[in-house]
Amino acid sequence: KEKTKCQSLSHNNVRDLVDSVDAFLFDCDGVIWKGDSLIDGVPETLETLRSMGKKLVFVTNNSRKSRSQYAKKFRSLGISVTVDEIFSSSFAAAMYLKVNDFPKDKKVYVIGEEGILEELELAGFTGLGGPEDGKKTALLRPNSFFQHDKSVGAVVVGLDQYINFYKLQYGTLCIRENPGCLFIATNQDSVGHLTDLQEWPGAGCMVAAMCGSTQKEPIVVGKPSTFMMDFLLKRFNIPTSRMCMVGDRLDTDILFGLNAGCRTLLVLSGVTSISTLEDLSNHIQPEYYSSQVSDIPQLLSA
Ligand code: PLP
Ligand code: CA
Repeated sequence: KEKTKCQSLSHNNVRDLVDSVDAFLFDCDGVIWKGDSLIDGVPETLETLRSMGKKLVFVTNNSRKSRSQYAKKFRSLGISVTVDEIFSSSFAAAMYLKVNDFPKDKKVYVIGEEGILEELELAGFTGLGGPEDGKKTALLRPNSFFQHDKSVGAVVVGLDQYINFYKLQYGTLCIRENPGCLFIATNQDSVGHLTDLQEWPGAGCMVAAMCGSTQKEPIVVGKPSTFMMDFLLKRFNIPTSRMCMVGDRLDTDILFGLNAGCRTLLVLSGVTSISTLEDLSNHIQPEYYSSQVSDIPQLLSA
């Protein structure tokens, strides 16, 4: 009995899908790698698609690295990419500020890691905070007064392994004391694969902490935001109907693709199980599903 209207990728439909798209947008974790381990058959799959003339784009919500740090990771796993094929949520945060003419004399407070700071700097912005503030403490003493830089005009929140009370207080003051201060979230993933063995709390956890103290909603720049898609589309002259989003997560990747009118392929090599997909109370339904990306060349040659 068919419980989902989503079709299993097969010998019968794979050719039609591949022929009808000019670009594949690949999510990274759960599709290309899991933590630091490459998923089987990925380099060969990407090479096959490139040899067919397909444009490849890599879109990750993990803000811990910058685009050039991701390019290094791809190369260390035996995949050749260029920096402009990579769209990370760290880059999206810097581009959001750039596109919205964020003043260069204002500063950006970062509750997050190196990737965000590096992308801000590359875009010409001054970032404060980051891992360094993980060593600081906000001590609660009688009459203690917490000082923050009044020239902060945006707070960017992403995954932060070094999050502490100091950073929460800093970011909270920036937002609560300056109504014009932007509150930007790289992404809101509930969990992430910081290692390939288990899940860890994702950026959604740090973002929720800041929502709690500020009582404000963030501007989300990663998947499934339309900002990320619109920005990406400006770089490639391809209609979304001729793009296929390949991802392992329904509420980020698949929704990102569906909202833009892309074809969608869910792979089961990451966080979504077949039973989640078949649960019809789940309203985010991809067009196709398959166990992993290497099914594409395998089914094409079958
Ligand atoms: N954020 C963090 C911190 C992660 O560890 C991960 C996955 O490992 C993600 C986000 C999701 O990344 P992606 O969009 O590549 O699946
Ligand atoms: Ca993923």
